[in-house]
Amino acid sequence: MRRLWIITVIAKAFHVLPSVAARDLDEDPEQLSLACLPLMNYANRKDVFDQAIKRGSDDKTLDAYVDDEIMSKVKRNTMDLHKERYQHRLDHPKGGVEGCRLCASRG
Ligand SMILES: [Zn+2]
Repeated sequence: MRRLWIITVIAKAFHVLPSVAARDLDEDPEQLSLACLPLMNYANRKDVFDQAIKRGSDDKTLDAYVDDEIMSKVKRNTMDLHKERYQHRLDHPKGGVEGCRLCASRG
């Protein structure tokens, strides 16, 4: 039963027939399709989040995700990133600091 469930989820996620998902699971010792599922879920939530933010503060899309663990992770990571960038602007206001990965990525 567990195998069937996994095959169903992989087939749905990658838009392939269950027979293809089953063969992939059997032939790939790393089971990459299974390993990628959490990342695909994260990418999906990140996309929903970004679209909602783009639509502005009146958008109610994110209300449906209040108890969603993955969406909470997306929000936390986004907030951490903003904090990191804000702190970086304070620390290196002129940029161009040798050896700083954030100065280097600013372009
Ligand atoms: Zn810097």
